[in-house]
Amino acid sequence: MPDTHVVAERPAQDQVATYDAIVIGAGISGMFMLYRLRELGMTARVFEAGTNVGGTWYWNRYPGARFDSESWTYGFSFSKELMQEWDWKEHFSPQPDTLEYLNHVADKFDLRRDMQFRSTVTAAHWDDAANQWTVTLESGQQAKSRFLCTAIGILSAHTLPAISGRDSFHGPAYHPARWPHTPVDFTGQRVGIIGTGATAIQAIPEIAKQAQQLTIFQRRPNWAAPLHNARISKEEMEQIKSHYEEIYAHCATTPMWFIHQADRRNTLEVPPDEREAFWEKLYAEPGFGIWLGNFRDIGVNEKANAAISEFIAGKIRQRVKDPKVAEKLIPKDHGFGARRVPLESGYFEAYNRDNVTLIDTLQDEPIERITPKGIRTTKQEYEFDVLIYATGFDGVTGAFDRIDIRGTNGLRLKDAWAESPRTYLGMLAEGFPNMLMVLGPHTARGNIPQAIEHSVEFQAGMLRFVQQHNYTRVETRPEQVGDWTRTVIKAAEKLLSSKVDSWQTGVNRNVEGRAVRRVLGYNGNGVHFRRTTDEVAKGGYKELMFR
Ligand code: NAP
Repeated sequence: MPDTHVVAERPAQDQVATYDAIVIGAGISGMFMLYRLRELGMTARVFEAGTNVGGTWYWNRYPGARFDSESWTYGFSFSKELMQEWDWKEHFSPQPDTLEYLNHVADKFDLRRDMQFRSTVTAAHWDDAANQWTVTLESGQQAKSRFLCTAIGILSAHTLPAISGRDSFHGPAYHPARWPHTPVDFTGQRVGIIGTGATAIQAIPEIAKQAQQLTIFQRRPNWAAPLHNARISKEEMEQIKSHYEEIYAHCATTPMWFIHQADRRNTLEVPPDEREAFWEKLYAEPGFGIWLGNFRDIGVNEKANAAISEFIAGKIRQRVKDPKVAEKLIPKDHGFGARRVPLESGYFEAYNRDNVTLIDTLQDEPIERITPKGIRTTKQEYEFDVLIYATGFDGVTGAFDRIDIRGTNGLRLKDAWAESPRTYLGMLAEGFPNMLMVLGPHTARGNIPQAIEHSVEFQAGMLRFVQQHNYTRVETRPEQVGDWTRTVIKAAEKLLSSKVDSWQTGVNRNVEGRAVRRVLGYNGNGVHFRRTTDEVAKGGYKELMFR
């Protein structure tokens, strides 16, 4: 997308502009937050590191990148007009279409006029006497605001592999979250990829079609199931448009705000052949049904989980021709759904190609180092023209850690959350007045745009309350933070996913100090979360302190 739009003017370097609110990030969260702030009559400035809107969909331009929630549940729902004028082309929208959609939203609501791009925020310090935030950019530019809105995403702090020699490789090396803006041509190239998470699982089948040779370095395999994407016909899109209200109302009744609702039965109560038939049906259907529409106990009961894991393992064995490769692709350290399930399009079949090789770096050939020519394992050196580090993100708190955020008495957010984050509803943090977090730690997530809209609506309501009472400051009470943190931890206790290392449990060994599991999200029912926030709003925000 060319950067020819009207964007906010940059003040002279020595000028410190003041706004009612500063928003960090111009992704889905920041865009909607800006829209609501304007409606409240507040002056706002969005600072964004990229050159345009889109956040996750701006940065992640790797081949194969697309939604794994249904496109028609992923768009903004705040504007009926917007919903009616936008045609999704595919059931699971590819990244370019999604970015086009977000640019359309930015155009429609003239959002860029309050956005400043190429503007990485490095610090945000609270001034207790002035009830104001001072935000500093990488360039040294500063700005002040009464409110600070963090719209920085949960998977935006990408991490490179902590492998020695990483910078010595002579060819291009890409992280999918910093993919070039012009397509990368892999024709005739020898490509090495480290990582087999959701990102790699989308990219591998696409790169395999082009590359001369694709070598995949897998540490731990992930369970994955078919996406079954398809184009949306004109008639289908008309149908969807005429049912948007029901679709979104239905999502609001499901635990994670997707269209999928768990089956009320427990796995082992169902006769094996009936169970098998149900799983066959789910495996053949598009989207997250096999995970979220499955029997209700697969995420909490070890035996139920073992049964569905065995079913999925059988599918991998059927789809991958070489039985040795198939075994390597079947996770043994965690069950199906205990890490977020990547949805794939021909991932397992990619391993049947002559130009694709799987290296198991856990069992067979640990990586020793990255060399100027490629990757050296304990067995040999592999030579590559291109390397891809699909090594993931410092999830949820990583983006906060990368900004020097200081609250009352100079308290650093990074220190306050050193062991684990503590928030109220994932939206406010103790000791950080007037800081509103969209998708902060310990909030309900699931279908991300719906979580964002819910969170922004709550925060906009709270700001309206602040305006009505002429308050200048809102903060959370310590006892509410304590209660919410306990609620969040309790909700995670019984889940099998809490017993597995992943970005969701805060483990990323490429980042110092991130080897210990933490609870980073609210894993209770999204319906309950909505009820809780609605009650706080209806009750006049008594849980919060205003002055
Ligand atoms: P990820 O799931 O964390 O996967 C990272 C991969 O890199 C893992 O296979 C990991 O191995 C490997 N790795 C990391 N450091 C390594 C090292 N030093 N040496 C060797 N291997 C290393 O990250 P991701 O694939 O980017 O996905 C993250 C999340 O993004 C997903 O769970 C999902 O929520 C989201 N996502 C969504 C979509 C979508 O469809 N909408 C697409 C892509 C991503 P280990 O497992 O052994 O640590």
